[in-house]
Amino acid sequence: MSDGFGPDNLPYGVFTLARGERRLGVRLGNGVVDLSGLGGLLATGSLNPLMAAGRQEWTAAREAVAAHVASGPPVIPLRDVTLHLPFEVADYTDFYSSEHHALNVSAILRPDSPGLSPQWKHLPIGYHGRSATVVVSGTPIVRPTGQLGAGEFGPTRRLDIEAEVGFVVGTPGRRISTGEFAEHVFGVTLVNDWSARDLQAWEYRPLGPFLAKSFATSVSPWVVPLDALATVPAGRQDPEPLGYLRPAGPAYDLRLTVEWNDTLVSTPPFASMYWTPAQQLAHLTSNGASVRTGDLYASGTVSGPGRDQVGSFLELTRNGTEPVKLADGSLRDFLENGDLVRIGGTARSAAGTQISLGSVSGTIVA
Ligand code: MN
Repeated sequence: MSDGFGPDNLPYGVFTLARGERRLGVRLGNGVVDLSGLGGLLATGSLNPLMAAGRQEWTAAREAVAAHVASGPPVIPLRDVTLHLPFEVADYTDFYSSEHHALNVSAILRPDSPGLSPQWKHLPIGYHGRSATVVVSGTPIVRPTGQLGAGEFGPTRRLDIEAEVGFVVGTPGRRISTGEFAEHVFGVTLVNDWSARDLQAWEYRPLGPFLAKSFATSVSPWVVPLDALATVPAGRQDPEPLGYLRPAGPAYDLRLTVEWNDTLVSTPPFASMYWTPAQQLAHLTSNGASVRTGDLYASGTVSGPGRDQVGSFLELTRNGTEPVKLADGSLRDFLENGDLVRIGGTARSAAGTQISLGSVSGTIVA
């Protein structure tokens, strides 16, 4: 399968046929293979029961699905199905783990005191977001309203994206060590953490993002199992993190793409992230807080060192001061109504092939 959805991938999703019940499926080529006939945890119409069952069941299910796919089952064309949120989202947390992104944002928004905040290389900074507004790819994004500054309320003028990678928790836990990452995390999905930069600038100090990001977060309809992905060694960290953040655990060489109205504007490299997903989960639970089945935690905006590798339009356009030209000749600083953003991604599979992470898209409406 040259499009990255062959037997080495088999990401899970939830779909319906016309007026039908929800069913669990896997993506194969340009279609979906219905898993409901396989029974057990694959016949519940939801990914959450399988995710809650733990790694042994995940491996057994993946083997059963692979055998089923190898037997030549019917493949339902994507155009004949409706795709839903691939899992029921429990809590949602968002991190800030790209050093390039943090430095870019600092230089753009705080030019008088640029640089990382003092704790940045000691802990993975994050905030707790709003799970109720996590929506599946394709859901229209209504331009949020809010306070734009003192005495002014209205639609945001600085609507932005954040290209991120989301990790979906399978089995519950607390004080999860970095070595236990793969026992608790089921898989990976692409995330767009839509952000209203004017609301954010006015509200975020001292407690961090609030309404600037809670109006919508889009995810891909596909969850790629961790088992499908090749790992790479994590990058060097200096200073050495505290013991509960060691060893760093696996890193993943995921390559993202950002398209703005069909113009490819950026290719963020996930391998450039400073903190690993295992460290993020260890930190998230290090105080005794629990995670549960369906928790989603996102990497934070993925930005590489290059101007064409940034994961937000804030960075791409230097806060709107350097507009980008799209393929149709029009200029953009931030998102306009009617604009479509699609974040895609590819990865190296555990079998050594290139696979697709699918895509997450959304169109801005007034
Ligand atoms: Mn974010």
